[in-house]
Amino acid sequence: MGTYEEKSRKIASERAKELKSRIKDYLDASKDIETGEKLEDQYLDNKKRILDYLNGTEEDWKNWRWQMDNRFEDSKTLSNVIELSEKEMNEIDEVSENFRWAVVPYYASLMDPKDPNCPIRKQSIPSAMELKDPMEVDDDPMAEEFTSPAPCITRRYPDRLIINVTNQCAMYCRHCQRRRNIGGVDKPRPREELEEAIKYIRENPEIRDVLITGGDAFMLEDETIEWILGLLDEIEHVEIKRFGTRTLVTMPQRITDNLCSILKRHGPVYVNTQFNHPKEVSREAVEAAKKLTYAGVPLGNQSVLLNTINNDPHIIKKLNHELLKACIKPYYLFQAKTVTGTSHLIAGIEEGIEIVEHLRGYTSGLAIPEYIVNAPGGYGKTPLHPQYIVSAGKDYITIRTWEGRIIKYDNKVYNK
Ligand SMILES: *Cc1c(COP(=O)(O)O)cnc(C)c1O
Ligand code: SF4
Repeated sequence: MGTYEEKSRKIASERAKELKSRIKDYLDASKDIETGEKLEDQYLDNKKRILDYLNGTEEDWKNWRWQMDNRFEDSKTLSNVIELSEKEMNEIDEVSENFRWAVVPYYASLMDPKDPNCPIRKQSIPSAMELKDPMEVDDDPMAEEFTSPAPCITRRYPDRLIINVTNQCAMYCRHCQRRRNIGGVDKPRPREELEEAIKYIRENPEIRDVLITGGDAFMLEDETIEWILGLLDEIEHVEIKRFGTRTLVTMPQRITDNLCSILKRHGPVYVNTQFNHPKEVSREAVEAAKKLTYAGVPLGNQSVLLNTINNDPHIIKKLNHELLKACIKPYYLFQAKTVTGTSHLIAGIEEGIEIVEHLRGYTSGLAIPEYIVNAPGGYGKTPLHPQYIVSAGKDYITIRTWEGRIIKYDNKVYNK
């Protein structure tokens, strides 16, 4: 029979066995998922090859201006550092006539030089699929034009808003939801317009949270960033500032000591970025993230769910684990909407819900982003959750646990 303690140990180890079985498929799949950490040697080889081709030095590589000045923007140049077939080169040239593209040497060093299906290549190199969409597809899915009460401002919520400071990015993502604004002519917003935006914030005391984005907010010069933060600091009701930037992913060299000390001086500042695949979590990206963390800047990640790139529960889980190791909190997983030239990269909402279903309970709550769709008409981010309430009665509800157990939960309240 055994003692009570022996019996309970036995039950607990049976349960532990069951829990082990719940993670087996992930552990098996995980072996084959490429991550920045696993690929570090390949990245170093790629970097060396790219530096040789561009005649650059290690010092150049660390300099974000060198990265920007040496962006790959035509198929011929790119074909010197990765393998491209004649057909791929023609496709790139054809798409270039409609949609801009540009890749900094750093991001190119994350590409598999031989594999056209590499998730880094799919996010950055034009594909003929981009020309398959009818041009009348709605190009303003977030209705930004109807939610802008002042220059550069997008306001969709009671207590917070966006200032759009530039349409520039280090890279022009193939899935960009703001294609309409991004990647034509580079336009940092003139100071007069930014001043009007800040005036709007000053005059609306309920605004406590200001999100500075674009494009990519870290395309601005350090002085401009400090100027904006300084003006916002003077507004008493602005409690926090946030930046939206993809440079941590696409060009971590931008996270300089000077930028970090500016952000530190003007805190509380938060930074949100957009890692979409564990391959992007490279040593250089992790180092940049740590610099920001040490400067007191909490980091969040906003992934986009992308067909054939990350629409797989195991890949998203691995991505979020790699991010947490770099002190980056998975914040949102976005459902992308159809924007001309991007439909081949859009995954179904049912896939997104299944991915979240594979996270809750199976991994740390910290590793679970909120799955979000932007409501049409600019009505705001709306969560899409798997359903955990099976039914609700007067004194109880029936819940479904993460493993799918259906349990009645007593909800009687006495002495009310
Ligand atoms: C996304 C967004 C925000 C910030 O939303 P959070 O859910 O607070 O991160 C603010 N304003 C606009 C217009 C947005 O699109
Ligand atoms: S960084 Fe953001 S805004 Fe810029 S191209 Fe990529 S998705 Fe679009």
